[in-house]
Amino acid sequence: MSDHKIHVTQPFLPPLEEFIPYVEEIWENRFLTNGGPLHQRLEADLAAYLGVEHLALFNNGTIALITALQALDLEGEVITTPFSFVATTNALIWNKNTPVFVDIDPVTLNLDPAKIEAAITPRTTAILPVHCYGNPCDMAAIRDIADRHGLKVVYDAAHAFGVHNEEGSILARGDLSTLSLHATKVFNTFEGGAVICRDAAMKHHIDELKNFGIVDELTIKVAGCNGKMSEIHAAMGLAQLGHIDACLARRGEIDAAYRAALADVPGLDPVPKPNQTRSNWAYFPIVVNDAYPLTRDGLYDHLREVNILTRRYFYPLLTTLPMYSDLPSAAPANLPVASEMSQRVMCLPIFPSMTDDDIARIVDALRAPLRGGRPLAATA
Ligand SMILES: *Cc1c(COP(=O)(O)O)cnc(C)c1O
Repeated sequence: MSDHKIHVTQPFLPPLEEFIPYVEEIWENRFLTNGGPLHQRLEADLAAYLGVEHLALFNNGTIALITALQALDLEGEVITTPFSFVATTNALIWNKNTPVFVDIDPVTLNLDPAKIEAAITPRTTAILPVHCYGNPCDMAAIRDIADRHGLKVVYDAAHAFGVHNEEGSILARGDLSTLSLHATKVFNTFEGGAVICRDAAMKHHIDELKNFGIVDELTIKVAGCNGKMSEIHAAMGLAQLGHIDACLARRGEIDAAYRAALADVPGLDPVPKPNQTRSNWAYFPIVVNDAYPLTRDGLYDHLREVNILTRRYFYPLLTTLPMYSDLPSAAPANLPVASEMSQRVMCLPIFPSMTDDDIARIVDALRAPLRGGRPLAATA
């Protein structure tokens, strides 16, 4: 078996000859950005593919989230998860909202609805949950709490491209949902993002916000930023759309192969995928429990020695970062599950071009410590 480096993900590239005609179109019509024809086509095609009505493309997922929060004109406190990528809470800071951290569910690793209500104060205006790894939050419970307390709900759905439950696309839930179309995500436009909203009026508002807040030549209504996706980025999305189903299918096969291979490995527990009728297999997170001979960090080092590069999503916990650690809700005692899981979780490589040999090599490396195989990296 070869020992080439296996990264945790590899961006999907459509065949170059499918990308070039879009580039030629750009050169012909000389429309480079500002809602050009490719941007409009991708918006329509993506909305249709995802099964949502109103979608606004963005230049990246972080600006999409910042603009979504701005669109709801929130002030005060927003309840969120500490178990996410830093863009989630940074978007709150850019809107001058105070994050209030609530612990996660030990099985799904999503915001635990049972702990939300205790964190609501008169200053709370919204809940910002994350569909972590693309696994749906308990959206019914969150909606119920939000309705009873008059709160908005914005889902950071950066991981949830194409995920459905029995009610259809999970992106069509909450007041707003946001996507990332970054190179490392399941569907990419090099860099990109989107806001999914409920009605045409909100989509119009968001389209103005992502264009500096410009209403017309003489009217600028608020301090919007520049969130526009360029034509070359839209071209990448259009060239990729015809391949996304095959990409997702291959991810599903890899997920199934890992689950079968790990079923008899004590202490390596894949995060389950409940409450979805269609998954995107964006990540393959496992929890390293005490029955395994190595700690999570010991396993991470062991795999790195054999050129298998995993990621400890999500570690460090957001609440340990200097911007957040002084907040009262960031205290580890408030977040026992998230604190423990951030020490135990690891994402294994999963991407469409991964081969069966790659899977076999990774599974063998995961089993080696059980055999007392290699001199293994010391535990942290
Ligand atoms: C990737 C990601 C983002 C940010 O998206 P970008 O497109 O990289 O700006 C936000 N939230 C989460 C949970 C992410 O994983």
